[in-house]
Amino acid sequence: MATRPGILFVLSGPSGAGKGTVCKALMERGLGLNLSISVTTRPPRPGEKEGVNYFFRSKEAFEEMIRSSKLLEWAKVFDNYYGTPRDFVEEKLAAGEDVLLEIDIQGAMQVKQRFPDGVFIFLIPPSATELQARILGRGTETEASYRARFGAARQELAMMREYDYVVVNDVVERACDRIAAIVAAEHCSVSRNMHLLDEW
Ligand code: 5GP
Repeated sequence: MATRPGILFVLSGPSGAGKGTVCKALMERGLGLNLSISVTTRPPRPGEKEGVNYFFRSKEAFEEMIRSSKLLEWAKVFDNYYGTPRDFVEEKLAAGEDVLLEIDIQGAMQVKQRFPDGVFIFLIPPSATELQARILGRGTETEASYRARFGAARQELAMMREYDYVVVNDVVERACDRIAAIVAAEHCSVSRNMHLLDEW
């Protein structure tokens, strides 16, 4: 019997929603999700490691990856390029394993075109005030990049209607509980389990 494809989960949402933190906590739960490591042209932040947080590449190397179709999706976010390596995602799904992407909204919309069966989860901060505090609290932003991130985040909220699920990130572990429930529910969806009838 052919292996059933894995499920592609896409965690996305406005800047400052806490995608990175939730994603890290979620991966510690051992749900069997394979996290895709993105390629980026932005310089590493203190403590970030090559191949763990991102694959850090030059603009030229990134553009070459675009030209040679090595990226499943890519987007320019705040003056830097970010993209998802295609092979990792396609190989895991084909082997029946689930994949998790943590990407921005532009990228998520590209993935939705190519993988309409994917599960698109929109993570949002609990309030505008909280979002402001989180972006500032990161301490890595200049005044201009802070304003860009906050302005973009407000516009991006309207994209919620394009998603399958919305998760409010009030407390990280609670947000993870909700995402874990979504993962479990998708594994039980009738459309993904029609093969069960074959045994009867
Ligand atoms: P940061 O620079 O804070 O790590 O990420 C900035 C934004 O880029 C975040 O919203 C993050 O989700 C997004 N991002 C990270 N990797 C990718 C990717 O591969 N593709 C796209 N489209 N966005 C990404």
